[in-house]
Amino acid sequence: MFTNVYSPLEKLNHTRLNELWVKRDDQIDPYISGNKWRKLKYNLARARDLQKTHLVTFGGAFSNHLVATAAAAARTGFKATAFVRGEVVDNEMLLLCRLYGMDLRFTDRLSYKDKEALFQKYFGNNPDTFFIDEGGAGADAVSGCAEIVSELPEDVSHLFCAAGTGTTAAGLLSGIKTADSKTVLHVIPVLKGAGFIRDEILKYCDLEGQLVVHNDYHFGGYAKTQPELLQFMKTFIADTGMLIDPVYTAKLFYAIDDLSDRGALKPDEKIVALHTGGLLGIWGMKNELRSIY
Ligand SMILES: *Cc1c(COP(=O)(O)O)cnc(C)c1O
Repeated sequence: MFTNVYSPLEKLNHTRLNELWVKRDDQIDPYISGNKWRKLKYNLARARDLQKTHLVTFGGAFSNHLVATAAAAARTGFKATAFVRGEVVDNEMLLLCRLYGMDLRFTDRLSYKDKEALFQKYFGNNPDTFFIDEGGAGADAVSGCAEIVSELPEDVSHLFCAAGTGTTAAGLLSGIKTADSKTVLHVIPVLKGAGFIRDEILKYCDLEGQLVVHNDYHFGGYAKTQPELLQFMKTFIADTGMLIDPVYTAKLFYAIDDLSDRGALKPDEKIVALHTGGLLGIWGMKNELRSIY
C-alpha cells in the first residue's frame, strides 16, 4: 500500500501570487492523511522487517496520527494499540480508530509523559510489539517526508509547511539538501512558544540558511483558534473548493496570505504549500466553526 502515492500538485488562484501551488498530500488517503502517511511508511516497513505484528503508539484524543495508524494497521495486517492521553472520552476520531480495530487505553496525563516506560510496563515482555512514538516522530518519519521534495519541480523558490513537532519540516529540509536545491523552507508552527522547533529541525538537517520559521501564526496555540482565522478558513474553502483544517493548514494558508500582503513574497515566485491533510480536525472544532455561520 505504500508504493503508489496520489498527491498531485495543483495551482491555486490567488489575488497577488501568480505561482502559488499546493502539494495535495491530503489526497493520498482520507484517513491515513497527508504527512501521517509519509511518517508511517518507513516505520511500518521496519516493523515488518523485524517481523513484528502489533503496533503500539500514542496520541491525544483528537490525534490524526492515531486514526492514520489504526487505518494503516488494519490495511497491512498489523494489530494496533494506542495509549490515549487523558480521561476516557469519545469523539469522531476515536470512533474511527475503534472501527479500524485499534485497542484504546486511556492514560492519565502523568503516566502518559513517559511513553517508553508505558511501553515497557505493558508490552516490554511481548516480542510481537513495535513502538511508534507520538505523531510517528523519528528518523524513519524524516526519511518518509524527505521524499515529498523529490516529487516537486526543481525551480520552487519557497516551500511552506505547518509544524507540530517539526518532523515533517525536518524531512522537507533533508529532501532539499539531498536535491541540492535552492528552495527555502518556511515553517509555520501551530504551537505557541515553539522556539524549540528550529533546533528540532536542525537536529536532523543542518541546512540553516534555507530554513525560515514564522512563529507568529499560532493563533493562541495548539488547537486554539480566533475569529479571524475561522473567517479566513470559511472564505478560503468557499473560494478555492479545497478543504483545510483549523488546527494546521488554515494557519499555514493564513500565513502565506499574510506574508504576501506584507510584500515578503513576490507575485511571480514559485511557491508550494504542502497540504498535510488532517481534515478530521474539523470535527474537533465543530462548535467554534458552527458559531461563525
Ligand atoms: C500531524 C500534523 C502536522 C504536524 O506534523 P509534524 O511532523 O509533527 O510537524 C501538520 N499538519 C497536519 C495536518 C497534521 O496532521
